[in-house]
Amino acid sequence: MGQNLVTEEKVFGELKKAVVETLRADENKIKPETSLIKDLGAESLDFLDINYRLEQALGIKMARHFVLEHIEEIYGEGTALDENGQLTDKAVAVLKIRFGENVAELRPGMDMDEIPALVTAQSMVSGVMDILDSLPEKCTKCGASSWKSEDGVRVKCGSCGEAAEYANGDDLIKAWLTKVQEEKKLF
Ligand SMILES: [Zn+2]
Repeated sequence: MGQNLVTEEKVFGELKKAVVETLRADENKIKPETSLIKDLGAESLDFLDINYRLEQALGIKMARHFVLEHIEEIYGEGTALDENGQLTDKAVAVLKIRFGENVAELRPGMDMDEIPALVTAQSMVSGVMDILDSLPEKCTKCGASSWKSEDGVRVKCGSCGEAAEYANGDDLIKAWLTKVQEEKKLF
């Protein structure tokens, strides 16, 4: 699937707005590689606020749980984090597939508390793009395939006007994990 009504650039713009409003950060300091925690001083509650603003702006549902929590939920306790709350080899393998080999800090034995600092503006934008790309081919209300967007942010049906309905972020992470498991047989 996929969609080409809302561009990555537009999403980055919406993320910047959300971050500026939540953290009172200087917009010019927000680059794709910026860590919201390390570089902008975000705390975990701020992510709820930023996610909420993105949800309102784009008409989506962001994931409530991180990849590691989904791994433990699907494959069992201890699969992602050991008894000391440190990343397992398998968790590192999954995170590298998702966030790229170049996340140098990722290593087995890393403390889970260090993970949120790895969240960058780009990783948030990618998560949002995954959700937007779940746009179904046809409108769920009238069946037409004529999605359109006037502002490049909100998508609606060009036939009946219904707002686009996307898959939610958590369901997409679960589906992605299942696909990774089928290919890599990690767990
Ligand atoms: Zn429709």
